[in-house]
Amino acid sequence: MTANPIRPTIPFDGQGKHHGFLRLPYSRNDSAWGSVMIPITVIANGQGPTALLTGGNHGDEYEGPIALQQLAWEIAPEQVSGRVIIVPYMNYPAFRAGTRVSPIDSVNLNRAFPGRPDGTVSQKIANYFNDVLTPMADIVLDFHSGGKTLDFLPYAAAHYLEDKDQQSKCVAAMKAFGAPYSMMMLEIDAVGMFDTAVEVQGKVFVTTELGGGGTASARTAEIAIRGAKNLLRHTGILTGQIEAGESTMLDMPGDECFHFAERDGLLHMLVDLGDPVTAGQPIAHIWAPDRTGVAPVEVRANRDGILAARHFLGLVQSGDCLAVIAVTQGLSE
Ligand code: ZN
Repeated sequence: MTANPIRPTIPFDGQGKHHGFLRLPYSRNDSAWGSVMIPITVIANGQGPTALLTGGNHGDEYEGPIALQQLAWEIAPEQVSGRVIIVPYMNYPAFRAGTRVSPIDSVNLNRAFPGRPDGTVSQKIANYFNDVLTPMADIVLDFHSGGKTLDFLPYAAAHYLEDKDQQSKCVAAMKAFGAPYSMMMLEIDAVGMFDTAVEVQGKVFVTTELGGGGTASARTAEIAIRGAKNLLRHTGILTGQIEAGESTMLDMPGDECFHFAERDGLLHMLVDLGDPVTAGQPIAHIWAPDRTGVAPVEVRANRDGILAARHFLGLVQSGDCLAVIAVTQGLSE
């Protein structure tokens, strides 16, 4: 078996706070013996569980990186019982390029798990998180947002799992995060995801979708910072009280939640994020991009619920995910 070539520049078992890098050898035209330097912080003190906090799995999603920079800066070892491993820019080349997938190999990191130690740069990153960092962790928080092309209601999420004991621990951690919405999530494309790789290893896993459009607002950044601290307090790693407000429970029970564009055009949303919709209600018009005088294509809601996500850009292409409708009943409390 090939060993992963990534080497940390700081110890994982040292007490106190260490800032360094995961150094990934990357030989290329402009740097023969060069490396990709992925920033990492480890804060450890005494006995306790380990939390792995990650952002920048997709390079154009910003709430996670902001929150994790803040925590890496702010948290002192004396406030910790156990260990916090913080990687704000997981897919570092994509983060620096401001793109969803890596500009080096065009790989979507969140479809590359469990990765390959002898693969491309992104496959090596995935493999290191799969084989080295995840096994160290008791709980993993992986931040996502909509990126440049989607926008979401701010929610933390847990997945439906076959192991119901593991699922209930994930749900408890999701609720502790305390986002305005909490989602039981169905993935449309779960193969190769970091989420799946972590859950297969039996770990507690929480993810988020906290906004989108390729930026972060003051409100969504604050939700991310507070949520990450809440999660660490929930595990007993960080001192202090959980600060969680009301969270609306959402469910995404089936494929009918997703709405895809079937033509190119100019997107005219008829409802906004958080608006209630009923089955059959028009939720968007797609106007012809090339002429006037033609009726728009009407997109109707497949089911009752609230608009939880939408295509962000003003133009749509056939096949784009246009809207996601979530339901507030089910797991609600
Ligand atoms: Zn993402």
